Amino acid sequence: MSALAYLDYAATTPVDPRVAEVMQRYLTMDGIFANPASRSHMPGWQAEQAVESARRQVADLIGADPREIVWTSGATEADNLALIGYMRANRNKGGHLITSIIEHKAVVDTAHALETEGFEVTWLTPGADGRITPGQLRDAMRADTVLVSLMAVNNELGCIHDLPALSEVAHAGGALFHVDAAQAVGRIPLDVKRLGIDLMSLSGHKTYGPKGVGVLYVKRSPDIRLEALIHGGGHERGMRSGTLATHQIAGMGEAFALVAQEGESDQAHVLTLRNRLLDGLSDLDGIHCNTALEVAVPNILNLAFEGVDGESLLMALRNIALSTGSACNSASVEPSYVLKGIGVPRRLALASLRFSFGRFTTEADIDSALDALHHALPGLRR
Ligand SMILES: *Cc1c(COP(=O)(O)O)cnc(C)c1O
Repeated sequence: MSALAYLDYAATTPVDPRVAEVMQRYLTMDGIFANPASRSHMPGWQAEQAVESARRQVADLIGADPREIVWTSGATEADNLALIGYMRANRNKGGHLITSIIEHKAVVDTAHALETEGFEVTWLTPGADGRITPGQLRDAMRADTVLVSLMAVNNELGCIHDLPALSEVAHAGGALFHVDAAQAVGRIPLDVKRLGIDLMSLSGHKTYGPKGVGVLYVKRSPDIRLEALIHGGGHERGMRSGTLATHQIAGMGEAFALVAQEGESDQAHVLTLRNRLLDGLSDLDGIHCNTALEVAVPNILNLAFEGVDGESLLMALRNIALSTGSACNSASVEPSYVLKGIGVPRRLALASLRFSFGRFTTEADIDSALDALHHALPGLRR
């Protein structure tokens, strides 16, 4: 058996070794381990400096001011803080939120939680390409709409939203625009000012940084009021209390600085890999592309294999790390809500796999996947 080929970068990426090296400086006795909130000694100031330098690295990548960066435990928490924090703090302006049915669960489940608190949510259904159009958003806007939340890049499909056009509609209707950009960093240009973004969620571990750290970008001037979800020492200007995780934060900063330098070459690399995968599959029948290639990032490719069941295919591809997007519960396997949301028939949704790759994926990894598919498919279809 050949070595395992990891083709699940959309679930998480490995930490870049250069990032891991930076992180190690902030842990042990011989490093900068002090609490960045300790104002009474040099080690504390050094830790604070590391945090502030990482804050600038993240801010620089997205065209923000460092004071607009709020550290969180990940994009999930950032999504929760954006949606719950903003809706609760602005109840007097209106209680209506607009989002889509194929957002990440961190947004979908948070919006459901807001519904149980009495807020109203409009759930938009995307087209077959996975995108909400500006016209659709315009039709959904109401006088009491205070927030629109749409993702930059969908994690199962890879499709990219037209953010400037959507933000224009949200703003014209008097609402703020929140974007979950966890999958977009290093894949599309993310200048918050140019894109018209007011709140943006970021994650460390989708971009070669560590898990357990993320950011909510919160636009300043005019100041956005957010109700904190986590109370404590008043860190992060009162928006998110808790001792800052220096090593995680320094790691995310370094990862984002690397993306600023290498994002473009990473993207050229993954485009070559996607073409290799598609070319290598062209001799097989009954493969449908769930990803609208012309509007998608090149590192995520969602394919349906007619006549097979995704779980059996996954079993047959034991040496390839992939995901189906299906949800297993005790009784049955349910197709991915994202594929269902763009109208993929149940039969095909259950026969779909998401291939996602990145900086460390090799042509040999793609070839292993191609080999495995050519071996497995005929037998499974028989
Ligand atoms: C991974 C991901 C998240 C969650 O990020 P964490 O940092 O793991 O909490 C949210 N949204 C999208 C689109 C993601 O891909």
